[in-house]
Amino acid sequence: MGHAASFSTPVVADQERDWALVDGPEVATELGTDPEHGLSSAEAATRLAQHGPNELDAEPPEPAWKRLARQFSDPLIHLLLAAIVISVAAWWFEGAQGLPVDAVVILLIVVANAIIGYVQEGKAADAVAALQRMSEVTAGVVRDGQQLRVPATEVVPGDLLVLAEGDSVPADARLLRASSLQVAEASLTGESQPVTKSPATLAEHVPLGDRTNMVFKGTAVTQGLGRAVVTETGMGTEMGHIARMLNETEQESTPLEKEIAGVGKVLGRSVIVIALVVMGAVALTSDIRTAQDAVDVLLLGVSLAVAAVPEGLPAILSLVLSIGVQAMSRRNAIIKSLSSVETLGSASVICSDKTGTLTRNEMTMVRVRSRSGAAEISGVGYAPEGDVLVEGSPLLEQDPELDLREEDIVVLSGGTLASDAEVRQEEDGSWSVIGDPTEAAFVVAEQKAGLTQRRQERFTRIGEVPFTSDRKMMSVVVEDADHTDAEGRVQRTLVAKGAPDVLLEHCTRAREGERVVDLTAADREQVERDVAEMSDQALRTLAVAYRPLEPGEYEAALAGDGSLDGEAGLALEEGLILVGTVGIIDPPRTEAAEAVAEAHRAGIRVVMITGDHPATALRIAQELGIVGQGARAVAGPELDGMDDAQLREVVREVSVFARVAPEHKLQLIAALQAEGQIVSMTGDGVNDAPALRKADIGVAMGVTGTEVSKQAADMILVDDNFSTIVSAVRQGRVIFANIRKFLRYLLSSNMGEVLTMFLGVMLAEYLGLTGHGEAVVAPLLATQILWINLVTDSAPALAMGIDPETEDVMAARPRPLSERVINTRMWTGILTIGLVMAVVTLLALDMELPGGLVEGHQSVENARTAAFTTLVLAQLFNALNSRSETVSAFHRLFTNRWLWLSLAFGLVSQVAVVHVPFLQAAFGTEALTLDQWLKCLALASCVLWFDELRKVVLRWRGEPAPAEPTPRLEPALT
Ligand code: ATP
Repeated sequence: MGHAASFSTPVVADQERDWALVDGPEVATELGTDPEHGLSSAEAATRLAQHGPNELDAEPPEPAWKRLARQFSDPLIHLLLAAIVISVAAWWFEGAQGLPVDAVVILLIVVANAIIGYVQEGKAADAVAALQRMSEVTAGVVRDGQQLRVPATEVVPGDLLVLAEGDSVPADARLLRASSLQVAEASLTGESQPVTKSPATLAEHVPLGDRTNMVFKGTAVTQGLGRAVVTETGMGTEMGHIARMLNETEQESTPLEKEIAGVGKVLGRSVIVIALVVMGAVALTSDIRTAQDAVDVLLLGVSLAVAAVPEGLPAILSLVLSIGVQAMSRRNAIIKSLSSVETLGSASVICSDKTGTLTRNEMTMVRVRSRSGAAEISGVGYAPEGDVLVEGSPLLEQDPELDLREEDIVVLSGGTLASDAEVRQEEDGSWSVIGDPTEAAFVVAEQKAGLTQRRQERFTRIGEVPFTSDRKMMSVVVEDADHTDAEGRVQRTLVAKGAPDVLLEHCTRAREGERVVDLTAADREQVERDVAEMSDQALRTLAVAYRPLEPGEYEAALAGDGSLDGEAGLALEEGLILVGTVGIIDPPRTEAAEAVAEAHRAGIRVVMITGDHPATALRIAQELGIVGQGARAVAGPELDGMDDAQLREVVREVSVFARVAPEHKLQLIAALQAEGQIVSMTGDGVNDAPALRKADIGVAMGVTGTEVSKQAADMILVDDNFSTIVSAVRQGRVIFANIRKFLRYLLSSNMGEVLTMFLGVMLAEYLGLTGHGEAVVAPLLATQILWINLVTDSAPALAMGIDPETEDVMAARPRPLSERVINTRMWTGILTIGLVMAVVTLLALDMELPGGLVEGHQSVENARTAAFTTLVLAQLFNALNSRSETVSAFHRLFTNRWLWLSLAFGLVSQVAVVHVPFLQAAFGTEALTLDQWLKCLALASCVLWFDELRKVVLRWRGEPAPAEPTPRLEPALT
């Protein structure tokens, strides 16, 4: 045993090894990787095979035979198997004459059932696995010297990781390089503040939270860049140790699954009682002489219990959920767990970001303003075609003495200096953006003004204070080649851009032409008026400011890691000189207004949450119909001072929140949830992750979202589009409605079987069922009951699970999550329909039998076949009933092709079981005449007529008929 370790290659990381104490380059050598080029892809593949995927649940998948065996694990099936064994034993002791037909048939049915369950479960599992692949997290690595993104599960020890802001760390790794790298490790250490990381080797073994040169799986990069060598993957990581301890790989069942399991249990218990009563009654009325007779009674009871409990339900449920979820993914919404479907259908408030979700995120600058005037910019989109016009004439044709021109150079070039975006012409001639669209708007405007080359010649960037949605501004430090001092030092200048209200706080002076003047209170008001005016026109506003730095000031502001993110860096952004403001259009998405209207119709409120200016936000919210005229917007900072009661008051009334920072999202969710709302919230940044987790449905952006936000979310929008959220909610409701349909169908059909048996045995004498010399007196045989269960249960139920959506799904208010899936009204329906089924079935029996209420002339076998057939047909009719609780079955009768297929299948198999000789032998049936078939059909159809009548009464009594929209929940319009 002791030498097993010598078989492993040296790259197998030793779990006890503390890589924090080893120098970076040495770690790379030891793990057999190149610190610049990473692993070769061939080596990575070998290691993947060797170490297995980088996943936390190391549990092997359940082998097929186990899954099949599990299909027999139901206690009721055990009972049935036991009864079969007893039956075969009795047959053996009585001389083993002929075949033990019943036992064989029942065994076949049980096996067939298990196979169906097995297949369904497998389908559902495949669907879930496919979804998991779609929402897979990716990781940046260098392999063969190329930087690429691979699924995080394929990261191997020795891989060279590339870490960037918003990435989730895919594995434990030792840093080789870091620039301003900060990592949030709360998930691992509980430390809420991000930790600054650097590659410096540590001197001694320290606790996890202090290993500053290591990054760990499951943590998140909140800022900066880094490169690191992977030391551990999968269960070998620190996260893996915790996961092993918590053993949290157990899958939680959804509330829906729990409720259904509960219903199953209650049904199981009551059915066993009923089965015992039926068995007792049969035993009393029958003339039991042999052991075989007794066993037959036993089989009957057990079959009844098995038939009455819908064992197939959980499998059908998860299959229907996963089919629905796959349909959603085709419509650009990736749902990460099945339970979210249910929550989605109940969503009552959708909180959405503005930029990119409600708007197109295609930023075009249209206006520039400075102290001395304004310029308009023509041309749309990212093509640098258009002009900067001052009072109608192109900028560069203006009198060179005009100070406005110089300023605009600074506004547009300044904004571009503080930008990282690039605009690029594609092969098809269209223009596209790499980077932030807001910044691209500056780049394009500068090109339109023809100033790009001049700026590039003059300025070189040397440092940056990054943009965050908390700060709402950013700065760069540039060297100005045109200005050198007497000692030959190049002038360094800080150039900042950001939200005007924020940037104004950092300004003390302003540019006016070539001059710099003090910024008076009146000037500030003027800027605010300019901004308000642009915002009122739905323009996104930014301001540009700058400050020449003193010699040595820049160096002094650098933090230990050479970045400007520290306090000293932030201090550079004070005492700025305001240059001007700009207005950018970001047109609303055309489909968004429609989606908002649909949400409102469905009683769902839409709340806009944005970092933009309140007036801009309000204007766009009005254009989209989120709020009406006269509504107000509340700014994030206003929320800061509020207590819980005030917050609740605000969320009740206000639907537009502007200048919001990520932590405000948490406050808003809490307040809305306290109001009893089911909240969906969008987010894209690392800082949005807590809000995404707290929301009932966290929604991440597939295109612009960070890996961390995608991991925290319940749903990912492939197209970042608001209307996708609404369509997912609609889908959620459709799926939920369909689940109700098949529950109604399955449960009422089962009720019909139980009541038929129960009443049939109890009323045997009045039906003319006794006195035929039969050992066991029962309306249906055990095999027949099981047949009904197999033929009628699964297929139509599944078909109903994929019933196409009806126009009314978005016409009702959201369902409170506390409301049961099967409510009292539904139970009443289930009971009455079950009763009607039993009555018509027993009537069919009575009509054929001599004696009883109606006189007949047939044998017991024949009468039983008629009853059996009537019950099957009644269930097929009931499938049509079950598609709605209040709407007529004839409404949209033919929209579900699968349903009709399953009904046709049910009918054909019933004809077979009645007329094919060997099935007749197996199921104790006799051929029926056409006349008899028609009689059965007529009787069975009563189930349909009765339910139509019931629906008329329900509609007449004003039960909310989903076809008519319920009064719409007024979205806050004030
Ligand atoms: P949403 O939450 O709806 O996506 P948003 O994207 O408009 O909102 P932020 O990106 O946080 O919100 O922007 C907030 C404000 O910060 C903007 O109104 C703008 O004034 C300013 N801003 C946005 N991007 C930049 C940037 N790259 N540099 C400087 N300032 C910016």
